[in-house]
This record gives sequence, structure tokens and C-alpha cells, in this order.
Amino acid sequence: MTVLSGYTPDELNEALPVLLGREIPSYRGRQITEWLARGVSSFDGMKNLPRSFREELALCSAVYSTGGQEVLEAADGTVKLVIRLHDGEKIEAVLLKDRAGRKTACLSTQAGCPMACVFCKTGKLGCKRNLLAAEIVEQFLRLKTQDNGLSNIVVMGMGEPLLNLGALRKAIAVIEHPRGLNFSRRRITLSSCGIIDGIDDLARSGPLLELAVSITSADSELRSRLMPVNITNPLDKLKKALLEYQKTMKRRVTLEAVLLRGVNTRVKDASALAAFARGLEAVVNLIPWNPVPGLLFEGKELEEPPDDEVRRFALDLEERGLKITLRHRRGRGVSGACGQLGSPE
Ligand code: SF4
Repeated sequence: MTVLSGYTPDELNEALPVLLGREIPSYRGRQITEWLARGVSSFDGMKNLPRSFREELALCSAVYSTGGQEVLEAADGTVKLVIRLHDGEKIEAVLLKDRAGRKTACLSTQAGCPMACVFCKTGKLGCKRNLLAAEIVEQFLRLKTQDNGLSNIVVMGMGEPLLNLGALRKAIAVIEHPRGLNFSRRRITLSSCGIIDGIDDLARSGPLLELAVSITSADSELRSRLMPVNITNPLDKLKKALLEYQKTMKRRVTLEAVLLRGVNTRVKDASALAAFARGLEAVVNLIPWNPVPGLLFEGKELEEPPDDEVRRFALDLEERGLKITLRHRRGRGVSGACGQLGSPE
């Protein structure tokens, strides 16, 4: 069935006559677009459409494709939505509020994830499937209904966005459309584990977004053990792709490092990360690991690094000339922090 949430206003105007098999005045498309932007998820809620028109639409289309949602709220203001898809799969979307007042929507692009990073709960699920554009847009709309003041989007939830770039491009076209949701793509960050073909594709064909890449360890042998993506997308080629991306897009990139106690926070890890960052216009975002019980690295439970270990590592990187940001621990109360997404079945 056709799902209207995944259409830009222009696409909607083209689709409606085809769907209904007759001419439709263009103001009807505009009216539907306005309701969608207000987060109305059913034809019944579109009050200025004639009842007969709503009934006709409902026979051949749906407003949303996703079904029910569970809303979980943490004491720090984080809201996690567990959203049921039409085929019974579940995905999660998170609203994060930081101390600077930013309200960030964290969106998923896959149900599960095939990349199997050892420190990530989603990676344990395997990949069920790619999300459709409408399923990505609806996460944004549902979070917007929770809080209408969303200031940023990070595509950093469940899944590897560069493995579902086609649907993500369509979703962003809907989210940024000036006659629709009108959300600036300059406030959208895509976070990848480092898929080289995807970075090349982004550099060639856009859209121009803020790009973050999870490096976590710039020691190739250790990175392969923590992030299997490194076996087929090695650091030297990844760096070349990032340099090329910067040349084309003229944008700074963010290098992310998930910090694991005693694993990747040693002096030689700082040295390797600094060497990787050399030549790139980059900021390094340090993310102290958010605990997920039962995640093992070579037979041992992973542990979050204590504050003094994080501080020492950050200082070491700064002394080597790197620009650092430190991710504050938010969203843990609802398992909505980075690496914690993926509800038990
Ligand atoms: S960190 Fe990202 S890429 Fe890695 S397994 Fe988790 S969701 Fe997938």
C-alpha cells in the first residue's frame, strides 16, 4: 500500500491523481502535506479534507506505515520510542536533550545491524532489514510530536546508514523540503562505522550532511577485533576516502571513538588516533562506552572507562594537537544511549 509520509510535497501532488485515477486539485496535496508536517498520522485527523475524499484515500493508501509505539522517558529528559513496523520488527528512535538546550532526534536506518561492532547491543541483533524512507521519516515525525523544538538530527540509531543510503536520501528529501517539514540538512549528522563505498557515494552524489565516522581504534589489528568492518574497509583506504570527501564537500568530519576501559585508551592508542587524524580537518568525539550487560571482548565483559581514564586520554589527544569533544552520558535510564539500542524480543 502507498504510504504518504514518505512523499515530498511535489511527489504527493504527482502521486494523488495516479492513486485515485482522476484529477485532484493541487491544494489537496498541500493540505495533506500540512497535516503530515503537524504529525497527524491518520486520515481522520485531516479535518479540512472532505470525508468522502478521506475514505477514498484510505482505500488505496495509508498515512503512516509504522504501527504502535512504546514511549520510555529517562530522568535526564531522554525519550526513547520503541516503534513497531508493519511486519512486526521493532526499531528505536531517541530524543536527546543536552545541557546546551539542543534537542536531537536520533534516527535508525535498519532493523538491527549487520556490522557486529563488539561494543554495541544493536550489532548483536544482526540485520533484519533496511528501513523504508517512510519508516525513517516517521521516526522524526513521532519524536517531533513528543517535542516540537527539535534542533538537530543524528542518523546514529540502529543500523549502518551508508548501507541504506537510497532510503535515507529519500527521507532527507522529505524532512528538508521547504514546503514540508523544512528541517535544514546542515543540522543533520550521519554517523557511519566507515563504509568506504558509501563515503565515496556521499561525496559523489550527496546530500551534503555533517559526517561522523566511528574509528574507535586507529590500531588496525585492534580495530578489526572491535569492528569487523575494518577487515574489508581498512584504515588506510578509509582515510583516503575521508580526504577525498573533504576535498569535495569542504567540510570538517568528526572522528568518533567509543572508549572501552583498558582496551583502547592507552598512550599508544592516542598516538595511533592522532596519526590517523593528521591531514584531516577533524574533531574527535570521545564517547565513554555505555554499559550493556553481557557484551564480551575476547571472553571478558566490556567495562566503561572511569572518568580519570577518559580525562587522561582526552588530555593526551589534546597535547597531540587534536580538537576534542566529550559526549556526556545521557539516555542510559531508558537504554537510549549510544550503543544501547535494541529491545529484547
Ligand atoms: S555501532 Fe553502529 S554500525 Fe556498529 S553494530 Fe552498532 S549500530 Fe551497527
